[in-house]
Amino acid sequence: MTGSNTEAAGFAVYGTDQGGPFVLVSDHAGRAVPPALEDLGVSAEDRARHIGWDIGIDGVGRHLAALLPAVLIEQVYSRLVIDCNRAPGHPTSIVTVSDGTPVPANEGLTPEQIAFRHTTILHPYHARITQELDARVQAGRPTVVVALHSFTPEMRGFKRPWHAGILHNHDTRLAHIMLDLLRQEGLTVGDNEPYALTDTSDYTIPLHGEKRQLPHVEIEIRQDLIADEKGQKEWADRLARLLPQAWAQFCKTYGTAGVTDAPAMQDNKQKADLSRDQMQIQVRL
Ligand SMILES: [Zn+2]
Repeated sequence: MTGSNTEAAGFAVYGTDQGGPFVLVSDHAGRAVPPALEDLGVSAEDRARHIGWDIGIDGVGRHLAALLPAVLIEQVYSRLVIDCNRAPGHPTSIVTVSDGTPVPANEGLTPEQIAFRHTTILHPYHARITQELDARVQAGRPTVVVALHSFTPEMRGFKRPWHAGILHNHDTRLAHIMLDLLRQEGLTVGDNEPYALTDTSDYTIPLHGEKRQLPHVEIEIRQDLIADEKGQKEWADRLARLLPQAWAQFCKTYGTAGVTDAPAMQDNKQKADLSRDQMQIQVRL
């Protein structure tokens, strides 16, 4: 499948929704590095590791976009250049070390260099998502934001047991439905594992799902399960089957008016999340 993939734009768009409710977003699908930054001072081998991108999620997302069908908006640049699931200025937005690998090109950046990455990569990607959501909401169309990620099977000697994880925070409704459906497949599914969705450690779902009060779900798939095309297609098939079921169940339980009943972000929850985030600063891979 071809997408409108331009590194200059900072994002790639695949598929058409053909009337469906889902908008797919993939913050860590890309591996590109802007020419001016050369190789970031990181070996090709390390850039291909999980620290550089969410291994396998590109194939899952593109197959899923074709199957649902849905629009998929992908970040094309490596998360080592800037992490598009972090708010500007977050401590892990532009990392100097990731899972033990130094990123020399990210050391000692000037405010201008940081702003350049914001204006050429972070902001255009999120603006494209906003544009997609604005058009749908203005047209009065039910809209579900689905954030796609993958996680490394082992972190600091701990073998992660989950096949997949569902992450959620303020609005757990669609997340819990999807969690149950995946578990009914006989899978081991993490409930806010391998990490929790929070106001500050995440950016995409808080910005496009929670603040807009749009139904949403963040899905993490273990990378060894989607390392090849066979696994990617298998997971795309599964999600293409379960996401519409989850949405139908959501509408039956909450009504499509559930869209406007979404829990709002609350100050006290944000404060509680801050201490959790301190612990998560190095482990969200
Ligand atoms: Zn990710």
